[in-house]
Amino acid sequence: MVTPRTLEEALEALAAEQGERPVPYAGGTELMTGRAGPRGPFLFLHRLSELRGITQGRDMLRLGAGLSFSELIESPLCPPLLLEATRRIAAPGVRNLATLGGNICHASPAADSLPPLYLYDAVLVLASRGPRGPRYRRLPIGDFILGPRRTALRAGELLTAVELPRIPAFSRWTYEKVGARKAQAVSKVSFAAAAVLDQEGVIRDFRAAFGAVGPTVIRRRDLEESLRDRRPPGQGDIAGAYGSRLKPIDDQRSTAEYRRTVCLNLLNHFLEALGTGPFTGNHAILR
Ligand SMILES: Cc1cc2nc3c(=O)[nH]c(=O)nc-3n(C[C@H](O)[C@H](O)[C@H](O)COP(=O)(O)OP(=O)(O)OC[C@H]3O[C@@H](n4cnc5c(N)ncnc54)[C@H](O)[C@@H]3O)c2cc1C
Repeated sequence: MVTPRTLEEALEALAAEQGERPVPYAGGTELMTGRAGPRGPFLFLHRLSELRGITQGRDMLRLGAGLSFSELIESPLCPPLLLEATRRIAAPGVRNLATLGGNICHASPAADSLPPLYLYDAVLVLASRGPRGPRYRRLPIGDFILGPRRTALRAGELLTAVELPRIPAFSRWTYEKVGARKAQAVSKVSFAAAAVLDQEGVIRDFRAAFGAVGPTVIRRRDLEESLRDRRPPGQGDIAGAYGSRLKPIDDQRSTAEYRRTVCLNLLNHFLEALGTGPFTGNHAILR
């Protein structure tokens, strides 16, 4: 068990030879409840100030990987879609411990923070021991998450922060989580979408991300691009194209058929709403 006080100390411990290398431990809500049970030795991250805080830079918002979901919810800087998704995670007791970084690094296709982070074009900051202090590399979230519980995190690396490039003022946005219950349920599917419409109702920016319907979150930039500078399409116009890309599975929580149908319905509802009168803000579909 190692409890470093600085990022340098943490990276030093992580640079240990294979076998002795400790496992990063943030809130422990995945590590303590995994099927294999806790497997140490652990590197406790809670004292690292470098992993904390939210700061607004000129061109990006920086979220510390060690932020708990409760801290995110309380911050006035938390962007709306991420706030909405975070509020749906577990119950306050878990949210007080569970961190943004742990949610990303666990790489579950059902993780609630992921669809908003894909939609915001999040970039992950990864630190490792360098010759003169920490060495950093940056990866877009889509290149970091490789599949269920598989990431591009290298041995000796820590996720220190998430950077969100300047976020457009979306005219409409939504985060939908479909689970067995309204609260305390793992997502059967999740859906994040956002759009910027101009005064004439023409789409200037459109983004959509689906969770739990494939090994990673699904975002189709080519389809998003095809909607730009157009009026909102009719039902089905674009959903069919998305449908061929969704690869849901049957499991104990739901069937593939249910997941695909619900996702496409959510997309259709969102697109349909874009074509109706002036409205700004959260377009909640499932309340
Ligand atoms: C009752 C319950 C309900 C839950 N409900 C939800 C829910 O509704 N939605 C949801 O998305 N999740 C849910 N979860 C899952 C869990 O709470 C989240 O995935 C949480 O964000 C994990 O964060 P953590 O800090 O606890 O991670 P930990 O358990 O500490 O770590 C998870 C993994 O990430 C690695 N890791 C953590 N931080 C870093 C870092 N900075 N750098 C490198 N690697 C790191 C660890 O080594 C480990 O492999 C629930 C869990 C429980 C127990």
